[in-house]
Amino acid sequence: MSEETIFTKIINGEISSEKLYEDDQCICIRDISPQAPTHILLIPRKPIPRLADASEEDKALLGHLMLKAGDIAKELGVDDAFRLIINNGANAGQTVFHLHLHILAGKAFSEGMV
Ligand code: AMP
Repeated sequence: MSEETIFTKIINGEISSEKLYEDDQCICIRDISPQAPTHILLIPRKPIPRLADASEEDKALLGHLMLKAGDIAKELGVDDAFRLIINNGANAGQTVFHLHLHILAGKAFSEGMV
């Protein structure tokens, strides 16, 4: 069995964190090393390592995360301009192998993707 990630420890309460939102499927916390004035992580409770590891059975969960990202952006007053990022794999910058969505806002983004 693979080792628990830091996000599983946060979800299980082994590491304390301030949760901005939580429900039976996901939690939402502030990123410890923010890359924008608003930098939020939306993390499914289910420890799917990478987006590419999700399967058909995760369809509803993935939809839930997308809808919650929009709701949380609205709640934080940044729904006018935010960026949603999923890093998939070490070469794409993924460092924690427990699927998570970055919600970034509060800075000027360039028109391109990178
Ligand atoms: P990624 O590079 O896409 O895997 O993103 C992992 C993110 O988790 C990074 O932006 C880290 O700053 C963030 N992170 C790591 N540990 C913690 C923690 N204990 N609390 C909140 N965010 C964390």
